[in-house]
Amino acid sequence: MPDKIKAETSAEARETRAIREIRINPIVPSESVLVATARNMRPRKAEEPAPRDTRKHVETCPFCRGNEDQTPPEIDVYPKEKGVDWQIRIVENLYPVLGDDRSQPGFNYGLQQAIDGYGRHEVIIDNPQHGIAIHEMDVEHIANLFQVYQLRMQELYQLDERLKYVLVFKNFGPAAGASMAHTHSQIIATPVVPQNVFDEVQNSRQYFERHHQCIFCSLIDEALTFEAKIYDRSSGEVVRKIDVGQYVVERGEKFIAIKPFASRYEWEIHILPLQHSSDFMTTSKADLDDFARVLQRTMARLDAVIGGAQYNFFLHSIPQGEEFQNCGQSYHWHLEVCPRTSIPNGFELGSGLFVNTISPELAAEQLRAVQL
Ligand code: AMP
Ligand code: ZN
Ligand code: ZN
Repeated sequence: MPDKIKAETSAEARETRAIREIRINPIVPSESVLVATARNMRPRKAEEPAPRDTRKHVETCPFCRGNEDQTPPEIDVYPKEKGVDWQIRIVENLYPVLGDDRSQPGFNYGLQQAIDGYGRHEVIIDNPQHGIAIHEMDVEHIANLFQVYQLRMQELYQLDERLKYVLVFKNFGPAAGASMAHTHSQIIATPVVPQNVFDEVQNSRQYFERHHQCIFCSLIDEALTFEAKIYDRSSGEVVRKIDVGQYVVERGEKFIAIKPFASRYEWEIHILPLQHSSDFMTTSKADLDDFARVLQRTMARLDAVIGGAQYNFFLHSIPQGEEFQNCGQSYHWHLEVCPRTSIPNGFELGSGLFVNTISPELAAEQLRAVQL
């Protein structure tokens, strides 16, 4: 039996029972997940993702130091002082998915409708070191990187009121769709609020109207304090104990990393501020330092458990604009980290139901158990 499968099987054996259940995402119920841990026992070829590039410097890489002339002009750089080597560079995307060239105006044709692809697409070269992973960067560098995200978001929102949302995201490794091996993140400013963010904002607003509480804050409270017992109706025996604290992966002074109960991806983790805050852009530098520490430690845990994590992360923060002004108390900004360990199959694409083959409780336990 290959080692990987053996390890999964023995971990599985520690579960009191295999889980097969549809878990409803409390914020966006339509994004529910089928947790089916017995699936993990199925025979299959070891799914080894294409390895990621861990080299420090690559002569031919346009994002490596010394090749600055191979990217479009720099938008910003950190640190700004002249004569100092850059640590983070922001450039226009050479192949933007959205732009402002106005060459393709929107149109309606029968039932077909198109909005023109107005927007911005920028690349942030996260670090001069080509293949460095987040957990290998120092905390100060990570905090600076997130401060750079804040500055770019502020500038893009101010640039043009047609830009309705500024999404910061990162693709790391070929399994996560990254075409460039050099560590980078991206910013895409869109003329519409993406549906995922819109649903979260609207649904949490509705929850607030009913319960006078932010649903994200309630989920954090549950994660920190709640313990639930499920009893057998006839015998009164405890059939299942849910210690919700088991979802906490990492905790800082100001931030918490949580394994969602309805995780779409086996190793998905969300990082949220412990104190309510809707807008990532207003996070202070001191708080970003704590955030960076929590992120770095979380990524180190992931790396220790799954080895060379390839993942996407994205920031969800309150959209700007008048129509969202009354959502400040109900929305809670967060970073979603989604490691990519399998390719979505026909059932997942056809049903919209993600299948997760590792119990989120067990995954969180393994992540927490890592000695850092
Ligand atoms: P990914 O989407 O993760 O593959 O990110 C790589 C991004 O870098 C893509 O969106 C490319 O369009 C962009 N890109 C590729 N080469 C260059 C370059 N020389 N300068 C600026 N952007 C680039
Ligand atoms: Zn490089
Ligand atoms: Zn909140």
